[in-house]
Amino acid sequence: MERERGILFVLSGPSGVGKGTVCKALRGKDMDIQYSVSATTRQPREGEVNGVDYYFKSKEEFQTMIANNELLEWAEYVGNYYGTPIQYVNETLDQGRDVILEIEVQGALQVRDVFPEGVFIFLTPPSLEELRNRIVGRGTETEELINNRMNVAREEIEMMQHYDYSVVNDQVDCACDRIQAIITSEHCKVDRV
Ligand code: 5GP
Repeated sequence: MERERGILFVLSGPSGVGKGTVCKALRGKDMDIQYSVSATTRQPREGEVNGVDYYFKSKEEFQTMIANNELLEWAEYVGNYYGTPIQYVNETLDQGRDVILEIEVQGALQVRDVFPEGVFIFLTPPSLEELRNRIVGRGTETEELINNRMNVAREEIEMMQHYDYSVVNDQVDCACDRIQAIITSEHCKVDRV
């Protein structure tokens, strides 16, 4: 039997835990899942492409998107806005295709309200020390931003209780295997078919 609507998967967790890396590795697995591109007011990092990594917006453009109800969720994170365009998510789910969002914790909790049937996966670092090492290793942030991100991360980790699954990102391949297992088992649930 065919499912009528796709499943919405939300991959969340503290910044620096490796959500982007894990998502990229999942893309390489040739899975039948669509990746939503977020809007943000942050400046592009080197190599990032508008419309591929993010839709890069001015603050005014982003506020217009909020006012026009174009976002499924949005959050202010370390001084910038991030949000998920709702049209792409709804259209893709309506076509019977799964969608995955890679977003921070405040936004994920908002999605919970709109899509209670979504599947919420919390990616955790092996430890807070390891998380700091990963953010520092990225080399793109100042000391002040790193400290801000660590403060946010401590609060975010307490939010794990609101999720359906937790996946430790000790090694990217292992984390991907666990997420693929979650996706497969969600497809096999009796109330989904
Ligand atoms: P970065 O600036 O490192 O690309 O992202 C910072 C944080 O924003 C990450 O935790 C990332 O997952 C999150 N993020 C990216 N897109 C969205 C979005 O559309 N909504 C929300 N709430 N967070 C997002």
